[in-house]
Amino acid sequence: MTRKTVDCRKYPSVSNCSLTISGEEEEVVRAATEHSISVHEHTDSPELRAEIRASLEDEKVGA
Ligand SMILES: [Zn+2]
Repeated sequence: MTRKTVDCRKYPSVSNCSLTISGEEEEVVRAATEHSISVHEHTDSPELRAEIRASLEDEKVGA
């Protein structure tokens, strides 16, 4: 199984957030959505989730 990861540093944000979230796709989308709302003052919406889902990358494993 390939874990997905989202890196907050790749988002333009005012908070200079350095968080990365890794896990199964649905877990990452859920956690990143909650994080975006609580930290980045986004509003939960299908658009936000789609944006997060589109930004997921395969986690680099190993060297
Ligand atoms: Zn963040």
